[in-house]
Amino acid sequence: MQVILSAPRGFCAGVVRAIEVVEICLERYGPPVYVKHQIVHNPYVVAELERKGAITVETVDEIPPGSRVVFSAHGSPPEDFQQAEERGLQVIDAVCPLVTKVHNEARKYRSEGKKVLLVGHRGHQEVRGTMGQVDMTLIDDADPSDLPDWDSDTEVAVLTQTTLSVGDTAQSIGAIKGRFPDALIRNDICYATTNRQSAVLEMTVLVDLVLVIGAVNSSNCNRLREVAEAQGTPSYLINGPEEIDPAWLEGVATVGITSGASTPEVLVESVVKALNPEKVTVLPGVEEDVSFTLPKELR
Ligand code: SF4
Repeated sequence: MQVILSAPRGFCAGVVRAIEVVEICLERYGPPVYVKHQIVHNPYVVAELERKGAITVETVDEIPPGSRVVFSAHGSPPEDFQQAEERGLQVIDAVCPLVTKVHNEARKYRSEGKKVLLVGHRGHQEVRGTMGQVDMTLIDDADPSDLPDWDSDTEVAVLTQTTLSVGDTAQSIGAIKGRFPDALIRNDICYATTNRQSAVLEMTVLVDLVLVIGAVNSSNCNRLREVAEAQGTPSYLINGPEEIDPAWLEGVATVGITSGASTPEVLVESVVKALNPEKVTVLPGVEEDVSFTLPKELR
């Protein structure tokens, strides 16, 4: 059997920065450092940081008054900052700057009097943070037919979650345009999501099976699996080698591997090692040179 590795794959600039924020806080201030919501959606990353003294909680009211807390990369609604202030917490916000950009767009368009639609995944942490910025309506990316009953000439601005499927989002935007022809469209899918999906599309035609390494609650990992599967290639999302079902590999000559923006490369390496292939090929892909500065509190 041979393995083909998709490129780019794995960590994006927003994830690198968020993990660095927690690590710097641990080094500079010592444990415990609270983290509101998983810093990024990967249990291995979360466990590594917790081993060093981070404590992951889901809500602000679980954090002892006066503590230091890092808010996750997915972004947080204003009420979380308000609640943190009331508890005297020292907040360091590790939100990805590309998510902040969506928050800023929402505030801008709402202040201009536009109605704001957000295409996203109901219940995802990023959607929760973005929805909290201003009054807006969520269009579930899985069912874009459920549109608001506004006049067709209503001034509408359309934002998207950063980690959606490029193809599905184009369909959702098409449906919205059909209903609101003058809608202002901001496609906010980030560079990392776009590049990983394009790369997996190219890889899928070369392989018999796709393994996406990453967590089940990671939006961009799920989208990578769906993109591959939509091409008719069997695709599975796994955390690591222990989740490989030997039955998947029967009759398979070439396994394609990719990983989501929150997946550390060490997990990809462990899967390749477990497969023990005769040959490993890395596909050429877009070079990414994006990096973000640290939050001002840590500079
Ligand atoms: S996936 Fe995109 S939006 Fe999310 S943290 Fe990475 S760069 Fe930022």
